[in-house]
Amino acid sequence: PPASRTALVTGANKGIGLAIVRNLALQYPSSTLSHNGTVPLLIYLTARDQARGEAALASLEADASLKKAKALARDGGLSTIKYRALDISKEDSIQAMSDFLSSSEEDGGGGSLDVVVNNAGIALQGFDADVVRTTLHTNYTNTTIAVRKFIPLLRRSRSGGHARLVNVTSMSGELNSKYSPQIASKFRATKSVADVDALVGSFKTAVERGTHKEEGWPSAAYAVSKSGVTAMTRAVAKEEMEAGSGVLVNCCCPGWVKTDMTKGSGYKSVDQGAMTPVMLALGELGGVEGEYWQHEKVKRW
Ligand code: NDP
Repeated sequence: PPASRTALVTGANKGIGLAIVRNLALQYPSSTLSHNGTVPLLIYLTARDQARGEAALASLEADASLKKAKALARDGGLSTIKYRALDISKEDSIQAMSDFLSSSEEDGGGGSLDVVVNNAGIALQGFDADVVRTTLHTNYTNTTIAVRKFIPLLRRSRSGGHARLVNVTSMSGELNSKYSPQIASKFRATKSVADVDALVGSFKTAVERGTHKEEGWPSAAYAVSKSGVTAMTRAVAKEEMEAGSGVLVNCCCPGWVKTDMTKGSGYKSVDQGAMTPVMLALGELGGVEGEYWQHEKVKRW
């Protein structure tokens, strides 16, 4: 099989995730990853529900811009998109995806990945210990597990130093006055993923004890889960730098985007929301890594 590149996007059946897949396909041919449009790209559009995932894939196969740009292989283009089941709230599903990729020869990549965008996330209504547990589990803990499972595949990228990991976090996770100055400095002081696990875990314990407010935490599970994602991204980027693995790790807020999550109330379209994640996946970043980005720029966390 011809040498090809492989990308994977989580939570890609709708919203920003689906737009990320679409824009990866559109922008890939002119990116350096494609070697002047000569190396094909296989994109895994992953979703937890097969019917929703396959419907999303069908919508891309019928997409006029993709057809016009000849971005999909079906039209003689450079990219192929495939649906694959991945529920990030289930560790065995993450394991199954990583096992499949490790053994997969169909992409010619021989068990490697070039781009991973961890986009899947949930925002639940209300605030209690259950909401905190469920939100942290999907958005933080299992996103971290997905990172751990996909990094070895990214390290095997044959792109000659282009492997990219992008975590979609949120401006809700910024370290502003929602946190006490002490909690904000604890987030800034985290160096390892274990440090972040411990800090995020201490929020969960405080909520269970009913003491989170006096300990300086907000009543906001989503915000804390995303502060965790940003801190985890920095820690993983540091590990990759120290290992000299060549995997460039960054995270970003997509901006305030009109999707089901915001009940259509954002000011960006999903394509605009996909811009920063796709730039971090395909663009020239001048080696910048371990940063938090928004509106295509590095932002202070
Ligand atoms: P949507 O709710 O529209 O889409 C979320 C996607 O994540 C859906 O495809 C959903 O699948 C998927 N998902 C949820 N749980 C899981 C799971 N366990 N396994 C796999 N997929 C899952 O949200 P957005 O597109 O707005 O959000 C995308 C990302 O951007 C999220 O991480 C969000 O936190 C972040 N973000 C969004 C902002 C915005 O303004 N919209 C602002 C800041 C950050 P399903 O259809 O099956 O539920």
